[in-house]
Formats: sequence, C-alpha cells, structure tokens
Amino acid sequence: MTQTSAPGTARVHVIADGYVREDDDGDRVGSTVTLIIDGDVAVIVDPGMVSSRTALLAALAGRGIAPEQVTDVVFSHHHPDHTVNAALFPAARIHDFWAVYDGDLWISRDAEGAELSPSIRLIATPGHTDQDISTIASTADGVYACTHAWWGAGGPAEDPFSQDPAVLARSRQRLLDIASVIIPGHGPSFRPGPGTPR
Ligand SMILES: [Zn+2]
Ligand SMILES: [Zn+2]
Repeated sequence: MTQTSAPGTARVHVIADGYVREDDDGDRVGSTVTLIIDGDVAVIVDPGMVSSRTALLAALAGRGIAPEQVTDVVFSHHHPDHTVNAALFPAARIHDFWAVYDGDLWISRDAEGAELSPSIRLIATPGHTDQDISTIASTADGVYACTHAWWGAGGPAEDPFSQDPAVLARSRQRLLDIASVIIPGHGPSFRPGPGTPR
C-alpha cells in the first residue's frame, strides 16, 4: 500500500460542480473547480469553464478567500475547459505538468512530487492527456485527489481522449492506492468502490 495514512491539515472545498451535458442549444461543459486551503496556502484547481464567474467568486468568498488571496492555481491538464479562468486569480502562481508560471517567470520543473504546502502535492497521472497531473490533499478525514483520470464517478470507463488506455489505467490505480475521495473533472466527488472504472 502506498496509502498516505497520516492525517493532513488541508481543507478541500469544491466551489463549482463540474458537468458535461447536451442542451437544446449545444454542448455545455463545466469544470469541477476546487479550493484547497492549508495554512497560508490557498489553491484553486482547474479554474476552467463555468456557467457564471460571479457565482464562482461568490463561492470562493463564502470560504473567506478573496481572489487575490489565492496563492496557487493548478491546471490538471491543458484543455481550455480547465484553464480559461486562471486570470481571475491575479497573484497566483500557476502549476502544470512541467513548470510553475509566476508573473513572467517560467520555472521548469517536473510536477511529480511537487509540494504546494505540507499537505498538498502534485503527482503525474497521464492518461486523459499525456500531460495530466493530479492534486493530492491530505485532510483530517482522508486523502483527496483532484484529477481528470475520471470525468465523473461512472468514468467514462474508456476516456475518448485517451491515446493509450493502459497508461490511464495505471494512473487510475495509482490514484486509488493513494486517495479515499476522488474529485473528478466533470462531476461530484466520490468514494471509489468496486464499480469505479479502473
Ligand atoms: Zn480534458
Ligand atoms: Zn475536462
């Protein structure tokens, strides 16, 4: 087991519920947007497409955080539905799979193992794209993984974007070994079980 057993100090709040649906007027996509707080660190994961930026910022305010207090933004990967609203958080460093972007500083590094705080770290989880990373937060009640390895609790079992299903399967297993709660790209958080696509 690679389960992280020691409780952490992070607090995890989903501030926008992700979705993918077909409406009469077209396909609608919303990113799951998550706020993770650990001490002075406030992280937004996947500030992507939302139906209302006002509602997103109101949800953040509801947790006592102003946009300029967000210290870090994480892109799980580079699809626009998970990145387009990054500029709402003007002071945040931005993290992706291969770098940290701070103002006009491009700091190359590998995301695997990068620590944003004592209880928040990044791991490489390729599969949906080959540049996917997941944000792992250790809390008092378990380990949360913000990840696009699943769109939602039901998968899809086979990700239509995946170039190599075996790579995605390995990442999913790694996440299941670590995390007690999955926060997927486009759906409510879930506790993995026997029906979770592997
Ligand atoms: Zn994507
Ligand atoms: Zn997505």
